[in-house]
Amino acid sequence: MSATLRILPLGGLGEIGKNMTVFELEGRIVVVDVGLRFPTADMLGIDLVLPDFAYLRERVDDIEAIVITHGHEDHLGALPWVLRELGHKRIPVIYGGALTVAMARSKLDEHKLRDVKLQELGAGDARKAGPFEIELVHMTHSIPDASAVALHTSLGTALVTGDYKFDQTPVDGQPADFGRLAELGREGLLVLCGDSTNADRPGTSPSESGVGPHLEEVFARCEGRIVVTSFASNIHRVQQVVDAAASLGRKVALVGRSMRKNVNIGRQLGHIQIPEGMTIPPREIDDFPDHKLVIISTGSQGEPLSALRRMAHRDHPAVELHDGDTVVFSATPIPGNERAVNETIDRLYHIGCDVITPRDAPVHASGHGYADELKLMLNLVAPRYVMPFHGDHKRIHLHAQLAEAVGVEPEAIFKGENGLPLEIDERGARWGKREQSGMIFVDGVDIGDPADVALRDRRMLSADGIFIVVATISEQTGQSVVDPEVILRGVPFLDDGDAVLGEIRDAVDTSLARAAKEEIREIGLLQELLHDDLAAFVYDRLRRRPMVLPVVVEV
Ligand SMILES: [Zn+2]
Ligand SMILES: [Zn+2]
Repeated sequence: MSATLRILPLGGLGEIGKNMTVFELEGRIVVVDVGLRFPTADMLGIDLVLPDFAYLRERVDDIEAIVITHGHEDHLGALPWVLRELGHKRIPVIYGGALTVAMARSKLDEHKLRDVKLQELGAGDARKAGPFEIELVHMTHSIPDASAVALHTSLGTALVTGDYKFDQTPVDGQPADFGRLAELGREGLLVLCGDSTNADRPGTSPSESGVGPHLEEVFARCEGRIVVTSFASNIHRVQQVVDAAASLGRKVALVGRSMRKNVNIGRQLGHIQIPEGMTIPPREIDDFPDHKLVIISTGSQGEPLSALRRMAHRDHPAVELHDGDTVVFSATPIPGNERAVNETIDRLYHIGCDVITPRDAPVHASGHGYADELKLMLNLVAPRYVMPFHGDHKRIHLHAQLAEAVGVEPEAIFKGENGLPLEIDERGARWGKREQSGMIFVDGVDIGDPADVALRDRRMLSADGIFIVVATISEQTGQSVVDPEVILRGVPFLDDGDAVLGEIRDAVDTSLARAAKEEIREIGLLQELLHDDLAAFVYDRLRRRPMVLPVVVEV
């Protein structure tokens, strides 16, 4: 029997996000990327969306390795849940570039998952993994250390591009490894699984290093304070903001936990250089005149509890925005986040800020290559088969058209979907039998079933009941002024009744104290915080997931 290479996407096809693909040969498995997706507005009460990885549950012991292409959430965000469910000790090794591994480790630490076998793999180094040999190829993207993954097998080489653009003038001076890609092409690439994100944009994406001068131009026109918001992981963008600030004699304050965390990791790995004395701690912001400051903030996607969203709600402990401040969005909203971003922008205008978005000035460059870059990739690696990845059906279709345009036979192009495996052997390539795939919802602490939200809500109510907390806080201090009221209906854990109720009240107090300490005052934000804390507490204590409804009253 001749060997068959099976490529089974569990996520990332027909959607944007939760990228995860199973490569299978001779009964052995290599998984490329373990990503998540953020919920859309209609998934109320859902925190995160993971790919349904039921397929791997019965096959854990066949997994030789997991490879992560880069540090973005849609590629590594589901790791904590997937590792916990599969048993992290049963996964022999997880490979990635240095920054990718550092970000994965910090994420796993937050989830208290220690001794996971994470291993840095340098671009160009190869590792055996059963019948596969894994090699990372350096690429450029909106985060350093992004790689394509070459899986060498007896049938030939499969190349997963990961997210990429062909930036000829990247900020760190390290373009994609064109030479190695061309070599893979000359050796004869079996199949290309390529990023389709910007297949609908003609031409070539602008270089990341072109953003800096535009930021400087915008900054030069500002007289008040400047707040720049971008993805915390876009370390080269942060570098360019720092450089633009430096050239205009402004200091920089980093605001938002993930911003400070990522800049620290980036600094340790030498991806970002910040001159001595250039940054100031957020609490000193008010000590500097407005025209001497640039604040770099999280919240470019309007995320709940993010620094910028709190500023827009006039609810940030360190930054009080006012008339004359300018907020620069150095990012575009990920599909699904538009509403939250627009709401944030409108609140900023209400405060009196000026707002600059990529529509007003070229203060952002996409991390994904446009159509001509996808064609360049196809020409460099000259694949026998093409399977577009990382895009909704439209972009996968357009990527397929680009492949045809550069001369790939239509029969050799496979427009896939989640759960549908492509099987390649010596005779050719064809679709295999469909496997289970779909979505898993994460609500606070636990994984839910793939079901629609209303159904999930009803199931939660029927199984675990409802849990309402009414907290009364002082408008002045944010402190709790009377004992929180706890109302439980249909929660099946009241055998040791009063003790549990007491603990829940304590948990509410702890949560409110945390909010007061972090100076979270805005009711909506406070309710989000209470919801998350209490859901986590109840789950930890009782292994139950009642529906948690916090109500905050100000007096
Ligand atoms: Zn991605
Ligand atoms: Zn990415």
